[in-house]
Amino acid sequence: MASVTDRPADGSPPARTALRWDYAPAPESRDAAPLKPRYDLFVDGAFTAPQDGSVVASVNPASEEVLAEVGFAGPGDVERAVAAARRAAGPWAALPALERGKYLFRIARLIQERARELAIVESLDGGKPIRESRDVDIPLAAAHFFSYAGWADKLSYAVAGRPHRPRGVVGQVVPWNFPLLMAAWKLAPALACGNTAVLKPAETTPLTALLLAEICQEAELPPGVINVIPGAGETGAALVRAEVDKVAFTGSTAVGKEIQRALAGRDIGLTLELGGKSANIVFEDAAIDQAVEGIVNGIFFNQGHVCCAGSRLLLQESVADEVLHKLWQRMQRLRVGDPLDKNTDVGAINSAAQLARIEELVAAGEAEGATRRTISCALPEQGYWFAPTLFTDVAPANRIAVEEIFGPVVSVTTFRTPAEAIERANNSAYGLAAGVWTDMGSKAFEVASALRAGVVWQNTYNKFDPTAAFGGYKESGFGREGGPSGLLPYLKVGA
Ligand code: NDP
Repeated sequence: MASVTDRPADGSPPARTALRWDYAPAPESRDAAPLKPRYDLFVDGAFTAPQDGSVVASVNPASEEVLAEVGFAGPGDVERAVAAARRAAGPWAALPALERGKYLFRIARLIQERARELAIVESLDGGKPIRESRDVDIPLAAAHFFSYAGWADKLSYAVAGRPHRPRGVVGQVVPWNFPLLMAAWKLAPALACGNTAVLKPAETTPLTALLLAEICQEAELPPGVINVIPGAGETGAALVRAEVDKVAFTGSTAVGKEIQRALAGRDIGLTLELGGKSANIVFEDAAIDQAVEGIVNGIFFNQGHVCCAGSRLLLQESVADEVLHKLWQRMQRLRVGDPLDKNTDVGAINSAAQLARIEELVAAGEAEGATRRTISCALPEQGYWFAPTLFTDVAPANRIAVEEIFGPVVSVTTFRTPAEAIERANNSAYGLAAGVWTDMGSKAFEVASALRAGVVWQNTYNKFDPTAAFGGYKESGFGREGGPSGLLPYLKVGA
């Protein structure tokens, strides 16, 4: 990029050390993603206006600009969508498995073809950096459809040859942090197993799910196999209580518990992928520079709006000062700003409500006596922003060490022995993920097997793969998504 130098007054060449390197803006063009002024519900293969719902604006959190009007489903619309899925269920399940797989392949290919457009819309609607939408969200969404397309005619291998059949109609509710990717995690295995689906995207990020509905039309997916009904929390609540045969939910633990209570006593499959407060553990024998990159990726990826974010950093006391020094240096180089700029590392906070929640918890951290360090950077005037923040002197009972902040905030504690690290890491109501940084394979295995976490990354963090299972323990939920285990919740086995 441009180099700026101050030439000495005598005209001699500038000293190399005086070179200052600045990033020139590298904005992705919005022209590749023309949005319609209005999007409606996708029910029974067609876009239709809500019958008893409303129309709500979807807003760009980086600028507060209205992107499009979106039809929100009311209770009657939910019933309509579930009825469409019910009509489609029999014929879809009866289709030869190889043919079902071909539809999934087609959807995967169309996601790839429209990848640039989807990435731009994901960043506009959700505030995440284009680099992440482009390189993570959209390719992984396609990969999930590809992977489960391959499984469609091989289900008996996933269930050890036992008899199996689809559950029927599944109701799926997804959050706003990975809108298209979470839709893919839910829809691809459901369809591969022969179910039909009604998907409710999050209130603040419905657009890419509606573009996925367009893709279903392009792929000539039979009407009713996928239905997309944007709406607020009440729409989700109505969907999980509707006449569906299985519910899959990703979101907060509070809502997950409410769904569990609502479904008690019904013979209905349920998977819950809820919150987390994951420990990222750095031992003294770790490659420190590599670990610092992993810490940054673990908590600042997607502004920390990640259920498995490494929000509790556990440092072995002997290297704590070195790691903290390097981490703080690295954090100060993070670029916060326009999500559509290809240089941006940290984008906008997804909504005003989420920003308020982050601010509340950060204030609680300060009030409880932890030491806060927030990087100094210019934040845009409009939109919702929170600069990367580090807390030290954190007590295990502090709210910032216990509650999910879901923002770019990491709290740091130290430990002396592996046993203490394990005890501290497991001292949480959650159990979704963890990271272990060490050069010793035996220590990594010993620690990983003692951690009560669904996913443990060794010397890396936030790596996702459609062939690997993902899910939690304790208040992080139950059931697995991804890989062959991700098929099981969508099948009745042995019946
Ligand atoms: P929610 O759990 O409220 O939202 C997740 C999804 O559930 C959204 O589609 C939401 O709709 C829907 N929903 C809301 N209420 C109900 C209900 N009663 N029944 C069925 N579905 C419902 O999360 P929030 O957006 O409120 O975020 C709050 C906190 O939750 C965050 O700060 C974070 O800690 C955590 N969270 C964790 C996620 C994870 O991946 N584990 C994802 C998102 C949030 P709508 O968007 O319209 O409200």
